Amino acid sequence: MRVLVVGGAGYIGSHMVKLLCQRGFEVTVLDNLSAGHRDAVKGGRFVLGDLGERDLLDELLRTSRFDGVLHFASHIQVGESVREPAKYYLNNVFKTQYLLDAMVAHRINHFIFSSTAAIFGEPLRTPIDEDHPKNPINPFGRGKWMVEQMLSDYEVAYGLKAVCLRYFNAAGADPDGELGERHEPETHLIPLVLQAAAGRRPNITVFGTDYDTPDGTCVRDYIHVTDLCEVHLLALQRLWDGAGGGAFNLGNGNGFSVREVIDTARAVTGREIPVVYGERRPGDPARLVADSRRARAELGWNPRYADLATIVAHAWRWEGGREG
Ligand code: UDP
Repeated sequence: MRVLVVGGAGYIGSHMVKLLCQRGFEVTVLDNLSAGHRDAVKGGRFVLGDLGERDLLDELLRTSRFDGVLHFASHIQVGESVREPAKYYLNNVFKTQYLLDAMVAHRINHFIFSSTAAIFGEPLRTPIDEDHPKNPINPFGRGKWMVEQMLSDYEVAYGLKAVCLRYFNAAGADPDGELGERHEPETHLIPLVLQAAAGRRPNITVFGTDYDTPDGTCVRDYIHVTDLCEVHLLALQRLWDGAGGGAFNLGNGNGFSVREVIDTARAVTGREIPVVYGERRPGDPARLVADSRRARAELGWNPRYADLATIVAHAWRWEGGREG
């Protein structure tokens, strides 16, 4: 099978490309390298390009006869999306539509979309199931929810079948130690904590200690990047088997507080991790935990690395290995 991975040089995309190549798929990566890294693409054919280059996109889809498209190329910083909504709507919404229109034009009917827990906004209940009301509170979440709705309309009108995968907190790294998280700037908790452990940052700032949670810090549901990639394959297979599109919430169903993450990182690394207690970060809900029963029941998903210590250990092998 031939698969196009848009954003295949990024954090999750690069892990996906490696998995697809290992499983014998014929992979093409399209990435503009605005955030990704060419050396993170460990297999397949690499095409340097942006979804805004509509002629290039058209030519690629016309000539390559892909059986499916996975779309990871999006901006991901909530705070930045509030300051620069135009950047987010252009890249995450409009350019996604260009991709979908090219797929429709060339009759490529199977699409896996990287969505987010941010479409739910402030949770009304927890854990969060797929039918929880969608009330995104920032342009990043709103853009992702717009695309999900667009995809429902495209399925009805054009027969394009899509699975939307709503990531909670993607974390960890390739168990082989070959790939990991390399955002610039890094904003995510686990890599920042590990960079503090490695002495590459002086400390980690905890954003808020007065949340309505057991220890006052925010609770999140961390999911190993390799487990996340496995779901994409299962979702693609489901589409190829003739099922309709759908949406799945992806997490492990266990919430860990910021303090628990730091304590786990201390145990895993054996290093001191200096902590500074700071203000809340605007837009952070107190608790985001996924109800992923639908993914387990309907896709047969069975996470291998659900344990937080394993997630942190794999991330540490990557961060620690980058030390010298
Ligand atoms: N966080 C923190 N300090 C940091 C980065 C993150 O306390 O330097 C907290 C953040 O407020 C949130 C959790 O860690 O409660 C996870 O944040 P991250 O940015 O990794 O993912 P998000 O939940 O925003 O998708």
